[in-house]
Amino acid sequence: MKAIEVYGLKKEYNSIVAVDDISFSVEEGSIFGMLGPNGAGKSTTIECIIGLRKKDNGDVKILGLDPIKDNSKLYNLIGVQLQETSYQDKIRVSELCDLFMSMYDEPLDYIPLLERFGLLEKKKNYMSELSGGQRQKIAIILALIANPKIVFLDELTTGLDPKARREMWKCIRELRDEGRTIFMTTHYLEEAEYLCDEICIINNGEIVAIDNISGIIDRANIDIIVSFETKEEVASLIKENITGVSKIERLNNMVKVYSKRDDIISDIVILLRNKNIDYSRIDVIRPTLEDAYLKLTGKEWEVK
Ligand code: ADP
Repeated sequence: MKAIEVYGLKKEYNSIVAVDDISFSVEEGSIFGMLGPNGAGKSTTIECIIGLRKKDNGDVKILGLDPIKDNSKLYNLIGVQLQETSYQDKIRVSELCDLFMSMYDEPLDYIPLLERFGLLEKKKNYMSELSGGQRQKIAIILALIANPKIVFLDELTTGLDPKARREMWKCIRELRDEGRTIFMTTHYLEEAEYLCDEICIINNGEIVAIDNISGIIDRANIDIIVSFETKEEVASLIKENITGVSKIERLNNMVKVYSKRDDIISDIVILLRNKNIDYSRIDVIRPTLEDAYLKLTGKEWEVK
């Protein structure tokens, strides 16, 4: 079952094309990540899917419903945490949660939610007394009070310290594991790699790749690197005896062999052994989602 279906979505602001004819779908019960540089069109896409913005063209279905026409039905089915949500500082956590409970037909009790996110003892605190990570958790709790089938999380972990971010990852996985669909955006590639079942990379309003993590990395078609240390001159030996070598670099005793061949390390080891060449610290560096993202969005830079 598809939780979200988008066909040919287009949205312009005056003459700026923010989203340009994009199509994709999101499987129910999965974590879907939309990645892309600032201004790529992620927020606009989310806003069109949840009915906050009117699309110029295309077709959007969310849980089989039309985001604008069926807005009142959808209201109880989706939970939304948008970027930089600002709350009145002089409101207590419990008051804010009560307010949200009053807005839905069949809300979840917020006490177990506070407990689950480790915030029960903050129930009577003012929002202004919470840390950044705690406020982000409140944002999720508020998005969950409707007991939604789909949760939208727009840059939820931006600005959090590494421990708070990891806690958040655990929460997001739990939401998926209890059957909810998660639509998230993030600028943290290792976060997307850890969490997302499927990734859609968008750039200048257009989709440049959509796949699971390994599919995205394969699409970017980036060399793996076999690195090792040796005092011997091996470049020409390797080039002459091993196929599929893109380039060889040497820095002091460190040799790096670039290739698209996943199994090239075994050829290198056999060759070095057969030729009695001393080597050490042999390793394979495989492209990460971040490498793929940078290549696919045209922001590749040489760091390796
Ligand atoms: P992202 O969420 O990926 O950063 P956005 O969807 O916010 O991207 O923006 C996509 C493009 O649309 C950008 O060029 C942005 O400047 C423009 N844009 C976004 N919102 C508005 C708006 N309300 N009015 C005019 N232009 C906008």
